[in-house]
Amino acid sequence: MRATIMHKAGDVRIENVPDPGIQEPTDALIRITRACICGSDLWPYNDLEPTPDGLPMGHEAIGIVDDVGSAVAALKPGQLVVMPFAFSDGTCMFCHEGLQTSCVHGGFFGSGGGIGGAQAEALRIPLAEGTLFGLPVGPDDELMPSLLTLSDVMGTGHHAAVTAKVRPGCSVAVIGDGAVGLCGVIAARRLGAEQIIIMGRHADRTALAREFGATDVVSERGEAAIERVRELTGGFGAHSVLECVGTEQAVVTAVSIARPGGAVGRVGVPHYEAVPSGQPTFFRNVSVAGGPAPVRAYIEELLPDVMEGRIEPGRVFDRTVDLDGVPDGYRAMNDREALKVMVAP
Ligand SMILES: [Zn+2]
Repeated sequence: MRATIMHKAGDVRIENVPDPGIQEPTDALIRITRACICGSDLWPYNDLEPTPDGLPMGHEAIGIVDDVGSAVAALKPGQLVVMPFAFSDGTCMFCHEGLQTSCVHGGFFGSGGGIGGAQAEALRIPLAEGTLFGLPVGPDDELMPSLLTLSDVMGTGHHAAVTAKVRPGCSVAVIGDGAVGLCGVIAARRLGAEQIIIMGRHADRTALAREFGATDVVSERGEAAIERVRELTGGFGAHSVLECVGTEQAVVTAVSIARPGGAVGRVGVPHYEAVPSGQPTFFRNVSVAGGPAPVRAYIEELLPDVMEGRIEPGRVFDRTVDLDGVPDGYRAMNDREALKVMVAP
């Protein structure tokens, strides 16, 4: 089959690789019908050292179950499923607590270690019953883009909002106008936030954020951005800050614009060593939470809103490519020419 392999920074190729097969009784095999490129794929696209065998890429997908292992009873060949970016057994204590990204038997797709990537024709799914979630539509349903976001970005934006303790009537600042930040706006509005400030510099993206429910746009950076958010929030900062970037500057901004007693939800993969501002966050009682979103836990909650059109996170996709178009899709996202690229293998 054909799959996306990254060899080093900037070097993404579509290659013929061995077909995946069932290896464990708990596996399923899916034929990918939709995948996409993630903002987090751009980190290795910019800094991956030369990797001898290359890295299979992609961790977001919808697919059709092709085959299942002997221990898989809840999934049937032919069924359409959405795949969270992490696999999980669904039975350990962390899965029971709704933190599937800490599953004691779990792991992440598209990160090597013998686990394939989703930007491919097919993929082996470990722990299939705990991982995959059946969808109540056909593979060409018009809701496909929004359903695909349940694989990662919508669940991740929701996680940012949940860990930042968004609640009805509160003020929210969202750092980052990428797909996750935009989904964070959707999530904040869905949870009842009254004021939602989107912080970003791309006019087309902040315009979409406004359509998703943002009430204010802050395009400044650094100190100017911090001042602007304080102005917009009565001088004290926001109740909830969704950090959807992962850079040191973003997290400095995040902890600086949280009001006393407020919370920061971090979902940008950290490219910094330590969370800054130990004393200011201490004296202002600011919580800093977040991490890899347990999207498997959130699908059930978010799916009805997608099915009934109350949220439209699929609008973050502004380009669709086939597998051959994936390398250029990386380039386009990295050049900020595309917001998020969908892959229809
Ligand atoms: Zn588990």
